Amino acid sequence: MICDFSLRHYRDLLDAASTGGYRLAGFDRPPQPGDLLLRHDVDLSLDAALKLAEVEAAAGAWSTWFLMTRSVFYNLDSIEGEYAIARLRELGGRIAHHAVWPHVDLDERFEPVVAWHNPEPEYMTAPIAGAENVMSPPWFDPDHYRSDSNQHWRHGCPHEQLGHGEPEWLQLLTHPEIWAYEGNSMRRSMESFLDSDRAARLERLRADRIDLS
Ligand SMILES: [Zn+2]
Ligand SMILES: [Zn+2]
Repeated sequence: MICDFSLRHYRDLLDAASTGGYRLAGFDRPPQPGDLLLRHDVDLSLDAALKLAEVEAAAGAWSTWFLMTRSVFYNLDSIEGEYAIARLRELGGRIAHHAVWPHVDLDERFEPVVAWHNPEPEYMTAPIAGAENVMSPPWFDPDHYRSDSNQHWRHGCPHEQLGHGEPEWLQLLTHPEIWAYEGNSMRRSMESFLDSDRAARLERLRADRIDLS
């Protein structure tokens, strides 16, 4: 098994968690022993989120998708954004809010659950009025948290531990863009994302009745 950042290895992680006996959970109740909270911060690409969601559905898994209202990369109010939310739900996902400080734009699209985008330490764990902050207790505990930030697992790829049911419960944060676009470095994955984005934008131009002849 190769510990890369590919859809194939994401599936390995899910299978390992299943072998480890985890039960999937969301942020609607405090974590309990045996819980695996799959969290995705969608920073760049709804397409990547949909690709990962298909992998989860095929594995019988589901997760909580933290979506941005103030992304410079995607627009939840566009047709593509509305479709993405509907499809993520259809595949069993829950929708939460990936907020840009200091704005919390909770509305009926979201569960009252927030993760800050690129938070500064001053407010990362601070309470949020009317919402759960997933980086504060009981959701967050450094011993029960793993993240794939910039293709770097601080404690190594968690697949082996997950297969043994360790830790007792876990919040696992992954960024869909890292897994959906090929590349053995963050730079290469981002180049893949940009290639794919260019093709998608050409299609959008056509759909927008731009003459590309
Ligand atoms: Zn691995
Ligand atoms: Zn983010």
